[in-house]
Amino acid sequence: MKYDPERLFLVSNDDGIFSPGIRNLAEVASQYGEVQIIAPDRQQSAVGHSITVMDPLRVARFEMSNSMVGHAVNGTPADCVKLAHDQLLDRQPTMILSGINHGSNAGINIIYSGTVSAATEGTVLGYPSIAVSCTDFQEDADLTGCREAVERIIEYVLKNGLPKGVTLNLNVPPGPLRGIRWTRQGDSRYVEQYQRRIDPHDRPYYWITGRFEVLDQGEDLDVNVLKQGLASVTPIQYDLTSYKVYEEVKNRQL
Ligand code: MN
Repeated sequence: MKYDPERLFLVSNDDGIFSPGIRNLAEVASQYGEVQIIAPDRQQSAVGHSITVMDPLRVARFEMSNSMVGHAVNGTPADCVKLAHDQLLDRQPTMILSGINHGSNAGINIIYSGTVSAATEGTVLGYPSIAVSCTDFQEDADLTGCREAVERIIEYVLKNGLPKGVTLNLNVPPGPLRGIRWTRQGDSRYVEQYQRRIDPHDRPYYWITGRFEVLDQGEDLDVNVLKQGLASVTPIQYDLTSYKVYEEVKNRQL
């Protein structure tokens, strides 16, 4: 698919504007159109969909290491997308991309993820939006396969669009791409969540840790497709209504 200067890609993330992942995502998007990078000025992983209400937001021009220019915001991923849409972009973006996150956002991680929330905020605002994560936490992870998967998904969305209210959540193992599968969110949780320690003043403190546990072995789950070394793309939605239960209860007397 060819470059089109009419297209505008807004690129954000939660690891901060300095992360290698966002630079890679911006480079891939720049093959298809103009790119604007508007991202948090610091690490914002696991902030979920939080927004800044009580403090002002400030924006600083940021020189990226690949000679692109970005804008760093002292806020959350969702703040960045909202501010970009309302104030910073000179026209409507064609698509919103978030990532490439350093670490998986599959299973229950979707709900804590700032990466996914930047993309779902894009969906809330009415733009086709994609969250991208590499399952390797290391900052120097091999993003070759991520870049190829992003190309394929961008081209898919440019051709087919996305239904209203739906975001794509893409997770890719490090290294070369071995294939992409459509998946559903895996039922999973964390166990043994906190370590208790004692500080120098003899007071206890607690530090989050824990083990990721998968509760369903379905072959079409994001977590299990990733285990096989394949990339996973899940259509997710911010409408949290359980329609199944709603249909069951809606005529019951209260
Ligand atoms: Mn992150």
